[in-house]
Amino acid sequence: GSTDESARQILDAIESQFQLSNEALIEIVEKFLEDFTLGLGEYNHPMAMIPTFVTGVPNGKETGTFLALDLGGTNLRVCQVQLLGNHEFTLRQQKYRVSEALKTGEATALFDYLADSVDAFLTELPPSPTDAPADPFASSNSLELLEPTTDLNPALPLGITFSFPVEQTALNEGKILTWTKGFSARNAVGNDVVKLLQDAFDRKHLHVRCVALVNDTVGALLSRAYTAGGCILGSIFGTGTNGAYVEKVEKITKLGDAPARKRGGDMVVNCEWGAFNNTRTTLPTTPFDNKLDRESINPRLQAFEKFISGMYLGEITRNILLSLVDAAPKPLLFNGRASADLNKHYGLDTAVISEIEEAWETGRNGSIPESKQVHGSNSTQNAAVLTNGTSTKSAPHFTEVDKLSAEDKSRLERIRNIIIQRLNIDAADVSLRDAAIVRWAASLVATRAAKLSGSAVAAILVQTERAKLGGGLVPTEEKIIIGVDGSLIEHYPNFNAQLRACVRGLVGEEVEKRIDLGLAKDGSGVGAALCALQATKQG
Ligand code: ADP
Repeated sequence: GSTDESARQILDAIESQFQLSNEALIEIVEKFLEDFTLGLGEYNHPMAMIPTFVTGVPNGKETGTFLALDLGGTNLRVCQVQLLGNHEFTLRQQKYRVSEALKTGEATALFDYLADSVDAFLTELPPSPTDAPADPFASSNSLELLEPTTDLNPALPLGITFSFPVEQTALNEGKILTWTKGFSARNAVGNDVVKLLQDAFDRKHLHVRCVALVNDTVGALLSRAYTAGGCILGSIFGTGTNGAYVEKVEKITKLGDAPARKRGGDMVVNCEWGAFNNTRTTLPTTPFDNKLDRESINPRLQAFEKFISGMYLGEITRNILLSLVDAAPKPLLFNGRASADLNKHYGLDTAVISEIEEAWETGRNGSIPESKQVHGSNSTQNAAVLTNGTSTKSAPHFTEVDKLSAEDKSRLERIRNIIIQRLNIDAADVSLRDAAIVRWAASLVATRAAKLSGSAVAAILVQTERAKLGGGLVPTEEKIIIGVDGSLIEHYPNFNAQLRACVRGLVGEEVEKRIDLGLAKDGSGVGAALCALQATKQG
């Protein structure tokens, strides 16, 4: 009836704001390429294009045992990585929580906590092979680090994966440029990360030396290269998003005639692409994005990341849902009644909208992306974790709910239950039609995110001359190996498939087919270890 008609108009208007045509995506890639060039040429450009001083990628034959520390997302991780030299590794890790107080307090308190975590990790590890619990990933060699250290023993080498923008000046030196992803610790910006950490180790008399500083994207790149035998791009689709790729040093013109540039060859560049569109000139922005940005702790910054990453997709969806709860003249969702959870800032976790998509997928073709822990696996196993299949049938429009098959209704019923359980909306206020609308909103937000992610990947392929924008053959048959990490690409149904479809639309099927996109599992730990190895060789 007419109510449906006005509801349809409101929803269609929202939907059109989230659309990205192929032409729009081409323009986005062009702007990316422009920004890459600007960032390679000057310091302090929003697209920071940070030289990492990592000048080669591993081939899988590397060996050694290293400590690694990973700060930058939802958890703090400490691990010990043993590189076996055959593309495989063993890894033991411990996760520690980083409280809001630590994220937003004094930097020294945060770095003391990092040092304490390393200390706790070294203490918690079993003291000798004989005491060690059965652990398929442990080997006696990996316990070498636990021998009591004497003055003759060198300090344990540690690599830190620090996933915030850092202006790197050497493998083991870099100043924090800015915080992102909810961190804002005082007296950190402008200081050297390695020094902050080493000072904390020294204050606590830990016999540990921080020898390398890496971004998580660089970690993903190095670790995928180690397992797959090569890699051109490491990228993260987790709490935040970013990418690092292998660039020709001659193109990093801002290095001037620094020794690193004179040497020539390649260097890994950390794009910090999360800051793309900070000028707000390129991406079509909705009121739901503006609300998120305005209420964030870093308004107008990390603009691209706010369209894409796990920290934000739930929140954009929540903003859409609230606008429908409040729609005039008649509410379009939940009888106009939200819940305390739905009303709460960041009250809808991206994991929940992922669960909603999965509830729709399950049973349709019987295949949901499997998320399994992969330890020390080779590239084939890693790649297998990501499914490439695309959806064959889109979810029903909310107006069609009454006409659905029993099977499709039961899928919506599952979504309805998730809404009731996860958002604590009163069951009486959640209809199947509401379930269809929530799923629709989630998929708008996630599809846009996957397409934008694809445009960033395509931009790297064009930048490195592996593809031409708009298609066209590049004379090579080589596989294009990419390492990815993050809950979003690992778990969000169809994210990977939609990303690939976007790349295909931008650079053509010939190139897209050659892409071997696989999870860089444990990329932060393994990448930090590989970088620590490079540092100990150089030093
Ligand atoms: P990080 O990037 O911090 O290392 P993750 O890759 O696990 O860690 O990303 C965490 C982010 O992913 C959080 O923002 C969370 O909301 C989101 N997330 C967690 N689980 C899922 C899931 N199953 N599907 C999609 N997103 C998820």
